[in-house]
Amino acid sequence: MNLPALWDYMQYDMEADRFSNEMKNSEKRKKLLKQQEFLKDQQARFAKTESDIAAVEERIGKCRQEAERLGKLLEGISAEIGDVSDMGSEEVNEKLKGAEKLLNAMDACEKELAAIRNESEAIDRSQTEIKRRAAKMKLEYDEVKKVYDVEFARDKLKLKELRDAAEKQAATLDKDDLDRYREIKRHCTPPIAKLVNNQCTGCFMTLSVGTLREIKASNAAITCDNCGRLLYVPD
Ligand SMILES: [Zn+2]
Repeated sequence: MNLPALWDYMQYDMEADRFSNEMKNSEKRKKLLKQQEFLKDQQARFAKTESDIAAVEERIGKCRQEAERLGKLLEGISAEIGDVSDMGSEEVNEKLKGAEKLLNAMDACEKELAAIRNESEAIDRSQTEIKRRAAKMKLEYDEVKKVYDVEFARDKLKLKELRDAAEKQAATLDKDDLDRYREIKRHCTPPIAKLVNNQCTGCFMTLSVGTLREIKASNAAITCDNCGRLLYVPD
């Protein structure tokens, strides 16, 4: 294994990774993600008010139907009471009681309608507020996005240059060496660590006597007992 060459390659590879992470963690990107989150939240809230409005409208419709039904019943009783000459006083009293009940029920219906209208107005107000907040945030988002898009295009180009430089180095490496490097990198990065004072500089574990002896005795690449990084002993 050509560890010095692999080590050199790693510097390019890590530089590209570092820059890529920097792009991902840029303050502007984080801000945009937060703003997107906020806008999504407002959309969900808005959708909720829409379904609330539909529910309120359904209740208003039912209330109106009920009021209409009660009104017709009352009309019937009124017509009957209109001509009381054929009725006994008990019967008249019955009818009056019935009319009173209907009037009470109609009153309750009116009250319920008023309550639903209040609810409906509250929903309208919150919908207006949601729209206002979302519109304001959208403006801020568009402003940040404009700048970010330019920066992103520039950074993407730089990242490509860094990746290309790493690839150019990779092309000079032995394929098996590169495969091993990439395999280790999947669970441990950077994948090569220098061995200094019998210590792995990747995880700062002191190596076992056995491993140290193995490193001294062979030219083969040895990995750290603890973290699994390839150990590089500079000359
Ligand atoms: Zn280690």
